[in-house]
Amino acid sequence: MSVSAVGSFWLSPSPGKLPRPRMVVRSSAVSVAPILTHLQKQCATPLPVLRHVADAMAADMRAGLAVDGGSDLKMILSYVDTFPTGNEKGLFYALDLGGTNFRVLRVQLGGKDERVIATEFEQVTIPQELMFGTSEELFDFIACGLANFAKKEGGKFHLPSGRKREIGFTFSFPVKQTSIDSGILMKWTKGFAVSGTAGRDVVACLNEAMERQGLDMQVSALVNDTVGTLAGARYWDDDVMVAVILGTGTNACYVERTDVIPKLQGQMSSSGRTIISTEWGAFSNGLPLTEFDRDMDAASINPGEQIFEKTISGMYLGEIVRRVLLKMAEAGALFGEYVSEKLSTPFILRTPDICAMQQDNSDHLDAVGAILYDVTGVKSDLSVRKMVVEVCDTIVKRGGRLAGAGIVGILQKMEEDSKDLIFGKRTVVAMDGGLYENYPQYRRYLKEAVTELLGLEMSKNVVIEHSKDGSGIGAALLAASNSKY
Ligand code: ADP
Ligand code: MG
Repeated sequence: MSVSAVGSFWLSPSPGKLPRPRMVVRSSAVSVAPILTHLQKQCATPLPVLRHVADAMAADMRAGLAVDGGSDLKMILSYVDTFPTGNEKGLFYALDLGGTNFRVLRVQLGGKDERVIATEFEQVTIPQELMFGTSEELFDFIACGLANFAKKEGGKFHLPSGRKREIGFTFSFPVKQTSIDSGILMKWTKGFAVSGTAGRDVVACLNEAMERQGLDMQVSALVNDTVGTLAGARYWDDDVMVAVILGTGTNACYVERTDVIPKLQGQMSSSGRTIISTEWGAFSNGLPLTEFDRDMDAASINPGEQIFEKTISGMYLGEIVRRVLLKMAEAGALFGEYVSEKLSTPFILRTPDICAMQQDNSDHLDAVGAILYDVTGVKSDLSVRKMVVEVCDTIVKRGGRLAGAGIVGILQKMEEDSKDLIFGKRTVVAMDGGLYENYPQYRRYLKEAVTELLGLEMSKNVVIEHSKDGSGIGAALLAASNSKY
């Protein structure tokens, strides 16, 4: 949309929110400057704050490993203690139920030399009504999608006769894992309200649905998306020790020594290692929060929970910015006399919008003006647009830097237990998720914080690497390395 089109539009005051009589402020960006300054001060993440967060993350991890419920961090055992070696051979499937879509993937593994010979995948949108239906309906739909995909298996995929097709099931909801191929759903999140699944083994739910569909396949590994990403990245690179998802939500997992997990009570894996899912979204210690964070949390469906996630992940960054802009509009007339109804609507400004605004390098910030107008219904001049970009940058900088501090916390914990395991050699952190993938400023702030915390020398050994869609292949690989045959 062109700027002149924006300027010629008459914006009516919202009926629900009657505009207060207020002097029209000539240069509104000036009068809201103190709000920005205060915000920047509250969101600041100087080295001591980052260090505190990293130290607290390491301490909370330790507490969560000591005893179940010992910390904000659940430190869930993944039961993944054999990593793909590269020798995996054969035909495997992966099924990824993450948010609004589910994805199915077929991969032919060829062992050390041939590695991944062929892959095919399909994505299916989950109909809205199934998100509010019964467990049987949802799992029947998934099994049916899988059956249709399996039917299209062409001649280039081969399975020895007498074997069932094996599946790696990536299920990114909170699960209490009971073995590598079973886990109880604790609760649905991300807008799902399916009845009859909570408290049940999700693998059993899928197996029953596959039986109803007459589909002769079996789940060999149940993992969450971080664990899938770690396994997928490690298939190509033995130095991968940590995986982080920064998407709608956030989580991180890492490779842990079983002898430093007190809550295992002596149960050791043959490899002496296992992957732990930290569930770090629930971290909350010492974060620099503002009134906007507190209000957003109070209005959320899970107040007091997932505070780290609410500060650093994609679902929330745009909403925090909207709340700041709303205050600037109400208290400082940032967008003129009236406060638009759209701007008062929770979650109307999404993280991809603030990301797009931050990519605008034009002289007049035309894209910023167009997005502000299209999404929030407000008109803006150049000084206002600059102010808005500053607000976005403040929130994104805090998010990226805190995510970086969290990563350093994990590395620090690992190094404390095994000197030189992490900082004495090359260590890779595999990253995935739509926020990390698409937001260059966020990525840069995250890396800067890691470098600041570790120092230039030590940070040279820490490689933070995007592992695109590694989690699907990772789940298939885990089905292979945990094969029933
Ligand atoms: P999920 O976390 O649901 O599995 P993704 O990893 O694809 O899904 O992440 C989706 C999230 O990534 C969105 O909710 C959004 O917050 C963020 N995102 C997507 N596209 C962009 C973008 N262009 N810029 C910034 N963030 C984005
Ligand atoms: Mg995902």
